[in-house]
Amino acid sequence: MAQKSPFSSHSSLPEKGEQAMVEAILEGSPEAVGVAVIRLDCGCRKMAAVNAQGEPASKIIMYRDNAESICELCQNDQGAFDRVVRQFISWKTPEPDHITKETIVRKVLGA
Ligand SMILES: [Zn+2]
Repeated sequence: MAQKSPFSSHSSLPEKGEQAMVEAILEGSPEAVGVAVIRLDCGCRKMAAVNAQGEPASKIIMYRDNAESICELCQNDQGAFDRVVRQFISWKTPEPDHITKETIVRKVLGA
């Protein structure tokens, strides 16, 4: 049985599979300060590294947990914006300061 997670489903911390992807992306993007994680309603994920200026620091990566490829829907619409259920940035440690983070979030996620 799964143990009760200390984090609610509304947590903005990456899930296990996401965390592994985030680390892989950060490793391949030395100038990145974080990775934008976008969850889609179909269960696929879209991710991209961002640098301190809020510019993309990697190409956009799409993947699906425990699957060879992303779903048919995503193959057709590339993860359309209206199917986004949650988006956040997973920061590299040490995290940038509050103002930098806010600027990047606004630029990247349009929050
Ligand atoms: Zn999908």
